[in-house]
Amino acid sequence: MTTANKGPASTGVSQVPLLDIGRGNAPLKEEFMAAFESVLDSGRFLFGPDVFQLEETCASASQTKFGIGCASGSDALLLAMMALEIGPGDEVLVPSFTFFATASCVWRLGAKPVFVDIEPTSYNIDPTRLQEQITPNTKAIIPVHLFGQCANMTEINKIAQMHNIPVIEDAAQAILAEHNGQRAGSMSLAGCISFYPTKNLGGMGDGGMLVTSDETFANKLKLLRGHGMEPRYYHQVVGINSRLDTLQAAALNVKMKHMANWTAMRRENAQKYTQLFAHCGLDLVLSLPTEETGNHHVWNQYTIRVPRGGRDQLRKHLADHKIGSEIYYPVPLHQQQCFAGLKEELAPLPETEKAAEEVLALPIFPELTDAEQRAVVSSIARFYGIEANLDTPAQRKSA
Ligand SMILES: *Cc1c(COP(=O)(O)O)cnc(C)c1O
Repeated sequence: MTTANKGPASTGVSQVPLLDIGRGNAPLKEEFMAAFESVLDSGRFLFGPDVFQLEETCASASQTKFGIGCASGSDALLLAMMALEIGPGDEVLVPSFTFFATASCVWRLGAKPVFVDIEPTSYNIDPTRLQEQITPNTKAIIPVHLFGQCANMTEINKIAQMHNIPVIEDAAQAILAEHNGQRAGSMSLAGCISFYPTKNLGGMGDGGMLVTSDETFANKLKLLRGHGMEPRYYHQVVGINSRLDTLQAAALNVKMKHMANWTAMRRENAQKYTQLFAHCGLDLVLSLPTEETGNHHVWNQYTIRVPRGGRDQLRKHLADHKIGSEIYYPVPLHQQQCFAGLKEELAPLPETEKAAEEVLALPIFPELTDAEQRAVVSSIARFYGIEANLDTPAQRKSA
C-alpha cells in the first residue's frame, strides 16, 4: 500500500471523525421522510401520537411507568427541580465534572449547587464524599451517569434515604445504561434524558424526556412543562413552556427501534479499543476507561486519561492526523466564571480538577469501522514512539 503513510496511520484510513451522525441517519432516510410526511399531513405539530409513543417507549426502556417529553435535557433537569420546589436557601448536591445544565437548573431557581468530587475511575460523583456535604438545607442530589456509565446509585440511594433527600438522575448521556440490572432513570424519583444530537439517542435538534414511576410527580411535571395550566387558561402554578416537538418525536421513534443494536455496537467498539490499546502496551501509558462491577456501560464517550500533562499534545497530534477527539470537560463547573460567587464555601475537588486536565474522548460512535479504530490506536501509539502493526490481515495482504 503505497499511500499508507499519508493517512493518520498505516491502516489506509485518511481521517476519523469524533462522531459521524450521518452514518446512523442515512440508512433510515426513507423512514424519516415517511414519518415527517405523516406529521405534516396530520397538521398536528405538538403532542399527538408520536409524542405519546416516544414517552411510552422511553418510560419502558428506562424501566419506569411514565415518560414526560420536554424541550431539552436541560429543561428536564429544570422541571425536576421545579417539581421538587427547589428555591432560595436550598442546596442541591451535584458533581462539578459534568455538563453545565446539571448545576444551572439549581442556580436558575435561586438555590445553591454544592459541588461534590468524583471517583477517579468512573468520573461519577463519589458517594463517600456525599455525606460530608449534606446540611439541613440539602434538598436534592443529582448524580450524573457520565459518559454512559451509571453512578454508584446503590451507595448514593443509601445515603439519600438515610437523610430523606430526593435523588434525580441526570441520565442525559446514559439511556439504556444499567446499574445492578436497573436502568438509568429508574433508580431515583426521576431520570432526565437528553436527545441532543450527540447523545446515544440523538434527535435532529433539541429534545428531552423525564422518566419516573411516581404518578404524582409525573403529573406535576406535566403541569409544569405546560405553563402550570389545567384546564386550559387556568394556571394552578407558574410553569414553563417546554414541549417536545412532534416532528422531533417522529424522528426519535424511528431511531428508538435501533437503540439496542447501536448500544451493542458502542460496547463492541469499546471492547475493541481496550484490546488494541493493550496489544500496543498503551494500557500501561494511558488509563483506559473501565466498566465498574455491576454496571452496563452504554459508551456515549470513550474517555482515556493521559497522565503527566501530555493530553493537549496528544490531542494536537491526533488533530494533525485528522483524528477527532474532544475534552469533556476542560473547565469543571466550580471553576466557571458564573459560579465564582460559590468559591468561598467550596470543598476541595482534587479528582475533578485532575480529570479536567487529563481526559480525552475518542471516536466511539456505533458505525465506527475496525480500520478507523486501528487508525486511532496506531496514531496514539506513534505519538508515544511505539511502532505497532495494527493492520488488519486483509490490509497486510494488499500492502
Ligand atoms: C447533554 C447534557 C445535558 C443537557 O441536555 P440538553 O438536551 O443539551 O439540554 C445535561 N446533562 C448532561 C450530563 C448532558 O450531557
